[in-house]
Amino acid sequence: MNERLESVLTFFEKTLPSYYNSKEIRNSQVQMAVNIAGILSSNSDYRSILIDAPVGTGKTFAVLVPSIYNVKKEQSKKIISERVIYATASLNLQAQLRNEELSILQKLGCLNSFLIAKGQTHYICPKRLQQISISPMKKRHLEDFCNNALEGERTEFERKYYPLDDKTWSKINLESQSKCKHCDLEWACPTREHRNKFNDMRHQVVVTNHNQLIQSVLNVLDYRAPIIDFNRAGIVIIDEAHEFEDACLSQIAQQVTFNSIIKWAKETMYEYKIKSAVRVLKNSTDRIRRKLDTSSGRHKLGLTEKEALKEIQKILEEYQSRQLAYQAKKLFKNIEDYDEIERVQVVIKNALNEVEYTSWINIDENKNDSIVVVTKKFKSEINKIINELSRKNKLIFTSGTLAVKGSFDHLYHSWKGKPPSSTTSILTTVFNYSEQAIVYLPKHIPDSPGLTSPMFKQYCDAIGDEIYELIKITNGRTLILATSHKQMEMLYNYLQPKLSLLNIKFLKQGQKSVELLSEDFKQDETSVLIGTGSFFTGLSVKGKSLISVILCKLPFPPKDDPFLDLLAGGDDYNDRMEYVDIPRMLIKLLQAGGRLIRSIKDFGCFTILDPRVHDKKKGYATQVIENLKQQKYRITTERDEVKKFIELRMNMKKYPSYPKYKRDKLSIPESLQRDEYQGIVVNLSSSQDKFSVQVPSNGNSVFTPKQLAFYREIRLKLGMNDKLLKTIKDPFGMLKHLYQLAIKKEFPIDVLDTFPYESEEQRQNFQRKIKDNNSPSKVVSYILSPKEIKELEKNWAKPKTGIK
Ligand code: SF4
Repeated sequence: MNERLESVLTFFEKTLPSYYNSKEIRNSQVQMAVNIAGILSSNSDYRSILIDAPVGTGKTFAVLVPSIYNVKKEQSKKIISERVIYATASLNLQAQLRNEELSILQKLGCLNSFLIAKGQTHYICPKRLQQISISPMKKRHLEDFCNNALEGERTEFERKYYPLDDKTWSKINLESQSKCKHCDLEWACPTREHRNKFNDMRHQVVVTNHNQLIQSVLNVLDYRAPIIDFNRAGIVIIDEAHEFEDACLSQIAQQVTFNSIIKWAKETMYEYKIKSAVRVLKNSTDRIRRKLDTSSGRHKLGLTEKEALKEIQKILEEYQSRQLAYQAKKLFKNIEDYDEIERVQVVIKNALNEVEYTSWINIDENKNDSIVVVTKKFKSEINKIINELSRKNKLIFTSGTLAVKGSFDHLYHSWKGKPPSSTTSILTTVFNYSEQAIVYLPKHIPDSPGLTSPMFKQYCDAIGDEIYELIKITNGRTLILATSHKQMEMLYNYLQPKLSLLNIKFLKQGQKSVELLSEDFKQDETSVLIGTGSFFTGLSVKGKSLISVILCKLPFPPKDDPFLDLLAGGDDYNDRMEYVDIPRMLIKLLQAGGRLIRSIKDFGCFTILDPRVHDKKKGYATQVIENLKQQKYRITTERDEVKKFIELRMNMKKYPSYPKYKRDKLSIPESLQRDEYQGIVVNLSSSQDKFSVQVPSNGNSVFTPKQLAFYREIRLKLGMNDKLLKTIKDPFGMLKHLYQLAIKKEFPIDVLDTFPYESEEQRQNFQRKIKDNNSPSKVVSYILSPKEIKELEKNWAKPKTGIK
């Protein structure tokens, strides 16, 4: 059996069950691991795979195990060092990886070392700490932390001391890595020290987030250093990949907040004029905000806003044309201030360029509104990012909600095509939803009147009453998903006194870091947690701590969202619904519901508090119901039925089990059905049109490992595959090939100088031959599989014809 396949099967059939002391083996988990092993095999022509792995598949182990096998195999060859980059969209998933899968793989001896590389804002900045005024005791604790921290990360502080609220943290975290360049605390800074390790190749797995990975690609495309060096990876896993295009947006978009325009206006001597133009923008956003039913959103620039921006642009141009720039530059204490004014000017200029850019006002729930500008070629930019990532890596996109209605077309629509050499896989769920879950769609819930309506409080109280009744049925154990911070606050204030009378702990997003809040929720079985965005994904709570998920409103994308217009790219209404709006809504809905059932023993109720789901005139309502039915959820409109279901399941002694695992039910990819190349190089000597075969008895190849590594590295850097060409006959042929490629592609490294020669004599000899354009040698090399070598050995003495 193929060694890679055998190793993966052994892990899932023996190692993992014995670690958990269980006989449970999940078909879909093993199938996913096998599919990934197939892609990573050197026999495979695929470079990327998209896998829809429903909740319960156990996708993290399924993706990590074959990937780590690959890295170890590569490292053992000592030809070139590889690692796995695992990018997630949520902090919760990063925490889960650290505390569960990666730790277990370490304990089992499958993994030597891994590193969590969070986004910069999760790390403390001792410099900023010096500058803020907070209570002396808190400051002392934070300073102690800076002196002793391992990573300088927020959760590390909270574990050691106490929770910090979001507001305090935002004053002391690392705002921009560029500030570290000239920092006098650089050498005593735990954050800097930890972030410097992001590219330490000793870590076989690096866990990061989408944003940091995408920013690294953009840096490379712009000839700057990446934060995470993905070009030395080998395997890049993009988990929660349904969020990939949103993450691309946050990195590609140019953004400037109204407050920062005012801040920099002070430096231009035109403060008054700019402030009055910004006031027009702010008045305008206040008007928009009053109409929105969520606390944040994107709003197309209207005539009034465009006029205000033109006014600011005119002032900034005047500022430059009077040649004050140079003088102003001298006045600034920090050159970065001047650069920032220039950046503001570019963003405003682009916002007014409607031919090349799409722009909007970003309405922020904390009132830090901004102008956002994105190139109209946004989808091509996503395509470029994916191509760059796959140039030197095998790419794995996965998520529990990647496919919609059995198709990935909505992704290809946004990514402007399929990833290079890609294949797909949709796994079946391991759960029995009809037995394990009930969906409750009450009919008596009022319509949401909009966030700024005076009726909003009344509406929140009404849904608060329904939530309270449900919490009494489940005795806590509930996750409430609000659609805005305002709704979350109102529900929290309404329910908090009632729940404290029931002796139920009520947790709210923002009280402490997401990671610690999730831990508290898991540990206190009857607690209730209310949150928004980040709790739709990533939160994984098995068992009776979470038996009720309540979604306060259907998660429709906002109407007239300019970003979705950009993704739609001029589609007609039906196509836009098909490829953009409906997939987004269904994905979010399934994600919310997906928090409920995390194992075969789990059960619970998924409630949607939105009367629109019953409106049959609305096409989307039918789609929602159909989608829930497709998942085999049982649906009710009666609370009493929920009560009966929960009571029955709470008292149930016997749990259902996963479908029985059978190895012969697996579908084995073609690439794993035969042996792989082992990297053994044999010499084939040629004489005219006949070839005789010589397998080196001492096991040496005609190339040194360093030469092979150099060859691979240069070919990959030039955007080519790294296979050894059959026409390359010996080290000289290798050098000649690389030299010609480098000249053709204007590669900046001098390969003649950097090629790993075996001796000084060889260096001089090869360089002279290259210069004389003298070709040569009658030895050819070919990488053979063990089976092929045996075949050749059998016919050892016989001359062979035509082996190439
Ligand atoms: S090195 Fe960076 S993170 Fe550390 S104190 Fe300086 S600016 Fe802050």
